[in-house]
Amino acid sequence: MSKPTMVEDKNAKSQLIFAATCDLAGKVRGKAFPKSDLERRLKRGMGWVPTNVQINCFDGIGETPFGALGDLLLIPDQGGAVSADFGSYTEHFMLSDIMTLEGEPWDFCTRAILKSALSRLEHLSGVRLISAFEQEFQLKRELGLIGEGFGRSGFEMHRPLCETLIEQIHAAGFSPDSIMKEYGPNQYEVVIAPEEGVRAADAAVIIKELTRSTARFHGEDATFTPIRDPASVGNGVHMHMSFLNADNSPATYDADKPYGMSDLTGAFAAGILKYLDAIIAITAPSVVSYLRLTPHRWSAAFNNLGFRDREASLRICPVTAKEPTDIARQYNIEYRAADAAACPHLALAAVVHAGCQGIEEGLPAPTPTEEDLSLLSASELTDRGFVRLPESLEPLSAFKSSGLIQASF
Ligand code: GLU
Ligand code: MG
Repeated sequence: MSKPTMVEDKNAKSQLIFAATCDLAGKVRGKAFPKSDLERRLKRGMGWVPTNVQINCFDGIGETPFGALGDLLLIPDQGGAVSADFGSYTEHFMLSDIMTLEGEPWDFCTRAILKSALSRLEHLSGVRLISAFEQEFQLKRELGLIGEGFGRSGFEMHRPLCETLIEQIHAAGFSPDSIMKEYGPNQYEVVIAPEEGVRAADAAVIIKELTRSTARFHGEDATFTPIRDPASVGNGVHMHMSFLNADNSPATYDADKPYGMSDLTGAFAAGILKYLDAIIAITAPSVVSYLRLTPHRWSAAFNNLGFRDREASLRICPVTAKEPTDIARQYNIEYRAADAAACPHLALAAVVHAGCQGIEEGLPAPTPTEEDLSLLSASELTDRGFVRLPESLEPLSAFKSSGLIQASF
């Protein structure tokens, strides 16, 4: 499978490119144009409508201040172009920016929101964010496979699908890290190497779309729902983050600090935990998100920073490197209280803004936990400053009453 260049194709008049935006509900929406018009569309975009931002994931339209008024442009970005060749057909789509007719980024464009969070971080501390999204999904068709958590049979059953997906991820310009049969029924996980800035969230959207397309190609149906069965495990989205200085040296690690957290990482992590009750409305935005965020599902259940703990909202990940410079480069923290009901750009923006708040307030690094917090009594939790994550969409009210976080957006 080779990646066709968009200009070379012979039937550019009949082929369509889908100009796409990942909306507030994490859905990829947009409009298609003939491939032969690409040059023009790169400059002029496609017409788009403000009220589209209020379409929810069930196609209902929330209360809208825009009504039937106004016009916007979806401007395709060459950097977000994907041509997924499935042999007898190719799916072309391009992630796009929503701009005003005057050519300014629109306030509700999720890519623009992330760009502004990243530039806040860079202005504040001189670092650029590197991140990688680990995404879990389930195939809906029942194969009657049981006992296949991390199983080879469970993997082999869908080896062709996994191999097509990895090939598509390569062709889209990303570096696949691994793919596996996860613990849950029909559950798989796909991981790629980190990317810088907005491209990391673009990659998360693109890989989700490629997963759905690849599943369809193989006669399957993939779901990224936060949880399918409350009696089982959920599908998480884990965001791994690290920082680079202007000279590309890593800024996340400091061998002389507890748990290796640089002062920057410590303050960033503390900001995330301090504002977690508000930002979780963005990173886990659906009603079912809160069935996943419960103890003993290896998701996240408390507002803690865990040291190598897979139930913490924020985790210091293990490092396998041995050389000091490699350790510093590999060291990263992982936000686990997110799922695929969230737009990756918005989720990352929310976490970055909360982290920036921590840096601005000069918060001290949180003390990492290395234990099962669900075993602590209510008073022990309170004494140590831990709270259970919300058990319903109640964080919407925390978000609404958090002036600082709201102002970030
Ligand atoms: N399925 C778990 C979640 O919902 C994650 C399991 C793991 O990869 O640690 O986040
Ligand atoms: Mg996993």
